[in-house]
Amino acid sequence: MSEKPRLTTTAGAPVPSNDTSQTAGARGPVLLQDYQLIEKLAHQNRERIPERVVHAKGWGAQGTFTVTHDITQYTCAKVFKPGTVTEVLSRWSTVAGELGAADAERDVRGFSLKFYTEDGNWDMVGNNTPIFFVRDAYKFPDFIRTQKRHPKTNMRSPEAMFDFWAAQPESVHQVTILMSDRGIPTNPMHMNGYGSHTFSMWNEAGERHWVKFHFRTQQGHKHYTNEEAERLIGKTRESYQEDLYNAIEAGNFPKWTLFIQVMKEEDAANQPFNPFDLTKVWPHGDFPLIEVGELEMNRNPDNYFQMIENAAYSPSNVVPGIGYSPDKMLQARVFSYADAHRYRLGTHYEALPANAPKASANVNHYHKDGTMRFFTNDFGNPDAYYEPNQYGGPVADPSVAEPPLRIDGDADRYKQHTADEDFVQPRALYAEVLNDEERMRLHQNMAGAMAPCSDAVKERWYAVLGKVHPDYEQGVRTAAQSDPAIPVTDDTPVEAAE
Ligand code: NDP
Repeated sequence: MSEKPRLTTTAGAPVPSNDTSQTAGARGPVLLQDYQLIEKLAHQNRERIPERVVHAKGWGAQGTFTVTHDITQYTCAKVFKPGTVTEVLSRWSTVAGELGAADAERDVRGFSLKFYTEDGNWDMVGNNTPIFFVRDAYKFPDFIRTQKRHPKTNMRSPEAMFDFWAAQPESVHQVTILMSDRGIPTNPMHMNGYGSHTFSMWNEAGERHWVKFHFRTQQGHKHYTNEEAERLIGKTRESYQEDLYNAIEAGNFPKWTLFIQVMKEEDAANQPFNPFDLTKVWPHGDFPLIEVGELEMNRNPDNYFQMIENAAYSPSNVVPGIGYSPDKMLQARVFSYADAHRYRLGTHYEALPANAPKASANVNHYHKDGTMRFFTNDFGNPDAYYEPNQYGGPVADPSVAEPPLRIDGDADRYKQHTADEDFVQPRALYAEVLNDEERMRLHQNMAGAMAPCSDAVKERWYAVLGKVHPDYEQGVRTAAQSDPAIPVTDDTPVEAAE
């Protein structure tokens, strides 16, 4: 008997051959009754699941989050109890490219973390930018369409991108970051992660604070110029996967420090900007960063598909002590992310190994049946399949109730525009944060990106840049008149001047 385990069918029967089809005669055709051959081919046809509409190309790891500082004055979430160590699954991604896209493309990066807490999973589904292109979910599907392929040419369309952005001036903040050095991080280890939305926390006393999450890289910011990225992509399309996987295998575990910004509940009404607007940051000067803990990613998953492709992150996954906010985009994502996973992975996607809460969370729910219900369907008592019931089935726990979210107002569709509001923060970024060299590369990157656009679209976008800062408009105009290609200096990645 062979030392290797015996190959079987999926039904467990031993298989006599895995290399020779059953045929009618030595040179004859294959018999339909060779079911294992049919099964093998049919399975191959089903090896892929639909790729994500956005964030299709991704890289991930497993690790831990350790609380180093006490923030219990803001939250009763067990994941933030001082000293607590929680297992985490990360997935980073580009937004626009398909599953086979090159890693080092200019794009926003997804930055998603699943914390397997004692109270169930908390997902932080963020980006490497603190803000976003639009602030109302009505615009999200249209925005994404402009990032994808044109229906006729089947190519990406700069004309569509800049046409859309020019009509949504609030996007200029995020477009500025996208076209800045931070638009092509060298790999996931060298970028920050932001929860981006405003969330809330509540404490034991039932007091709510608004919060922003910032995961700051301990590896330092490193970026590629367009030229460096083009050269790299010519050599490998998988540079992020290679860098991340190899670093972790070599024991160089990437780390991030979690900080929060905190705003008193009642102070939200007194800000010069809407603190629930996803196109705005909270200035550090007014809302200083408060240190919370350390994220360390230290394990490569044994199976990429099982843990990373199957990972299903959703802002709807919050735990007692963490809550939402009136951010319109957050409200929409609470619905749409979970719905995307129902479609992509199936009804019981939360039971897959990547997504299943750890045993300590003690999962009990009344969702029954459905496709792929491969786990127990009752709580040891088949009569307890509805609630309330007389059989001791699980019941809700009012002690974890969130304090009331104070909202009021007339139901209507409110446009948000005050004369200059959308340009104040991009102006601060452009004029006060970026240095001369960073501004020069921003001008060149943007001129290069919009080079294929029609003059009409260019002029509309220049007008938006002019509202941010006259030098911004002029800088991009000038760069567009010269060769938009960026001069190559050497192979060293650009390090942020921080
Ligand atoms: P600060 O001077 O305190 O903060 C500036 C921040 O800008 C830095 O801390 C860094 O954020 C970030 N930054 C540095 N270089 C770049 C770059 N090339 N591209 C994008 N971001 C960069 O001022 P404020 O807090 O008042 O913010 C001023 C502007 O800075 C904002 O309008 C916004 O555009 C930008 N910004 C602000 C952030 C915030 O949360 N306040 C976060 C990121 C950008 P980090 O420390 O997170 O790396």
